[in-house]
Amino acid sequence: MFESLSDRLQAVFQKLGGKGKLTEEDVREAMKQVRIALLEADVNLKVVREFVARVTEKAVGEEVTKSLTPAQQVIKIVHQELIDLLGQANVPLAEARPGPTIIMLIGLQGSGKTTTAAKLALWLRKKGKRPLLVAADIYRPAAITQLESLGRQLGIPVHSEGAQSRPPDIARNAVRRARDESITHVIIDTAGRLQIDEPLMVELEQINAAVEPVERLLVVDAMIGQEAVRVAEEFNRRVGLTGIIFTKIDGDARGGAALSVRAVTGVPIKFLGSGEKVEASTIEPFHPDRLASRILG
Ligand code: GDP
Repeated sequence: MFESLSDRLQAVFQKLGGKGKLTEEDVREAMKQVRIALLEADVNLKVVREFVARVTEKAVGEEVTKSLTPAQQVIKIVHQELIDLLGQANVPLAEARPGPTIIMLIGLQGSGKTTTAAKLALWLRKKGKRPLLVAADIYRPAAITQLESLGRQLGIPVHSEGAQSRPPDIARNAVRRARDESITHVIIDTAGRLQIDEPLMVELEQINAAVEPVERLLVVDAMIGQEAVRVAEEFNRRVGLTGIIFTKIDGDARGGAALSVRAVTGVPIKFLGSGEKVEASTIEPFHPDRLASRILG
């Protein structure tokens, strides 16, 4: 993800660096190129406009045009604005006290929810926690068996009641079991649909009301681009998201969704997932500064 954006921005700054002293005109021309690069990376139009306006305002100031290293100054400003856009700092997973910490994973079908549930469980176990996976996606029998088999492979307990019980009841029973078995984290894999639909939303609201998860994390495929922003807005309106996990960042997504979603919805990105393999290393906490540095190369 971000390769092409990264290449384009680096080219803009290289050109700027070759100029030595910068005029306001040079800065404005560079910002025009930055704007095009962001739009081509599929960043939300409003986000691009505001971003470019903020950077331009700072960059045409005295500091840059009078500076001995003006291009470096511009890069520094863009770097800082990217960090702000991405949410400033890492927002860690919330911990319920007393436990268990209940995490509800939400998302469209195919977003990587079930895989991410298992990755997150592994990541938590590596931190010395005791996770329990909960199979609450009862409409896709394969999802239940997928989670059960992942749990067996990884040695992580899975609470499953097959497809007969209602998801809010499954979640409630899982939390009860977690208390009995000194589980620290309950990770609920909920049903996904191809599209956001009313029954899906109602069910999520019911699970939410039944077990009051401290984390309601939206799992989004980074490849769906701008659509991710719309999906996040809709789920946020209905269930109040506490975080976003972008999956498939190993793919060639242009990255615009990841750059837009925080600014548009206010919901922090908490994790990035990469790769089909379920390993603790294929999920990582999201750090805005690290991603900004990666984009600027
Ligand atoms: P769900 O329907 O949301 O539960 O999605 P799944 O967890 O079943 O994942 C859908 C497909 O995406 C599967 O083939 C996964 O192996 C794949 N997948 C999930 N996460 C990633 C990722 O980060 N990178 C890649 N390349 N594939 C992923």
